[in-house]
Amino acid sequence: MTTVQTTGGESARAARDTFDSRNPATDEVVGSYPVHTEAEVAAAVERATEAARWWAELGFAERANRLRQWKAAIARGSAELAEVVRAETGKPNADAMLEIVLGLDHIAWVAKHARKVLSPQRRPSGMLMANQAATVEYQPLGVVGVIGPWNYPVFTPTGSIAYALAAGNAVVFKPSEFTPGVGRWLVDRFAEAVPEYPVFQLITGFGATGAALCRSGVDKIAFTGSAPTGRKIMSACAETLTPVLLECGGKDALLVDADADLDAAADAAVWGGMANAGQTCIGVERVYVHERVHDEFVAKVTGLAGKIRAGGDADANYGPMTMPSQLDVIRRHISDALARGGRALVGGADAVGDRYVQPTVLVDVPEDAAAVREETFGPTLTIARVRDMDEAVQRANDSDYGLGSAVFAKERGMELARRLRSGMTSVNSVLSFAGVPELPFGGSKESGFGRIHGPEGLREFARTKSMVRQRFSLPVNLTSFNRPKKMDAAVGKIVSFLHGRR
Ligand code: NAD
Repeated sequence: MTTVQTTGGESARAARDTFDSRNPATDEVVGSYPVHTEAEVAAAVERATEAARWWAELGFAERANRLRQWKAAIARGSAELAEVVRAETGKPNADAMLEIVLGLDHIAWVAKHARKVLSPQRRPSGMLMANQAATVEYQPLGVVGVIGPWNYPVFTPTGSIAYALAAGNAVVFKPSEFTPGVGRWLVDRFAEAVPEYPVFQLITGFGATGAALCRSGVDKIAFTGSAPTGRKIMSACAETLTPVLLECGGKDALLVDADADLDAAADAAVWGGMANAGQTCIGVERVYVHERVHDEFVAKVTGLAGKIRAGGDADANYGPMTMPSQLDVIRRHISDALARGGRALVGGADAVGDRYVQPTVLVDVPEDAAAVREETFGPTLTIARVRDMDEAVQRANDSDYGLGSAVFAKERGMELARRLRSGMTSVNSVLSFAGVPELPFGGSKESGFGRIHGPEGLREFARTKSMVRQRFSLPVNLTSFNRPKKMDAAVGKIVSFLHGRR
């Protein structure tokens, strides 16, 4: 961190903390950003409160119009944005483009569907309250604080930001300290579409800036990041009973049944495990394979994994580890697995370099090893042989995490998918659920709670408001002290008439 002079007005030049964003492939500084203080966060939230009122009053149609303008600006500038993503995360340009396209699809979806999902609904009022007209409304919360990770710095926060905005909220966004430039770019494009008020603002900094946002009085925090940080967020939010949505890490399993298309399963395991250097919350980390096809599957995986390579050149399949400290975690997981009887069929302890980690495929790793239990977040796979798919389901579910999963099977795909205790499962593909805007996204256990994406994702950012309007008076008012005594006996009869039979 450096302290530099910034212009805060001609007469009041203030020294302030900034931090550098660096290219993880070269260490080159690609940008410098303020470390926003608690007071600055509070000021941003105050500005957002006024903006939220204006934005809510715009209504669904005009908000959709502005969201489409934002989407179009992102699409037109996608090559530039991909370059910012590449510079800050190190991921290949094509991967950056893929996450931008997925993010755009979500913005398009909310612009189209927010009105339908969040419009007031009439509800039946039931026999006892037949004289009441019942409605439920989904009102904006006000200001939503979004705290994001670095691994998919466009796609992941957009899953909260676009949905919160479409639901009529203002957003104050704290991107990861590794990807502030991506956050800046997205906020600047939005301001072009919505110049009137700061409906979508950026604050930058480290954990302390995020913690200040949690305590700032926002109406909800949507957090995406690791489970340990998720705990801190929840504890900070507990002080003010600020509601939280937690999208945390995973340890996703892929199941391969005896009748699976093994070529497709192997291809999916390698891509799902190694793409983006394994830095994917819903990346494949563990594979459980039916014993009848285990050896053949392992041969196919090792064949494919042996051909892919991490590097900084255009031909490399994936780039560097974005966060240098992750290298130690990956090294520890591989070394521990090998020390405990595991074998590396591809890669191994030497696969972990100074910036890059080469693909690593581990077999015979005990189920209680770190490589099977903890989130590795690197380009590694553990593959285990199972007697049958019941054992595969049991071992997949025996995890502290419950984010995504995948099944490759011809006959029993959906049945096995249903039995996996994860928020999302793809059958005969990997990660595909994340690209379907209609489908809610989120996990359970250490993977968090709440849902982004889809109708559920829109309602996460709305205050559910129930109302009844009395349409006519009943001859006898049951909800009054003036109720005649004989009504009590009548109520007894009504109860047994309504509920006394099976
Ligand atoms: P992280 O938990 O280190 O940081 C996430 C964000 O929280 C950053 O912006 C960081 O500055 C902020 N933060 C840190 N300490 C804080 C505090 N005390 N109070 C408030 N904010 C604080 O996570 P990361 O390394 O940026 O991201 C990787 C993790 O994110 C992995 O575990 C990955 O699985 C997870 N992830 C989950 C999803 C999902 O949708 N479930 C998506 C992407 C990434």
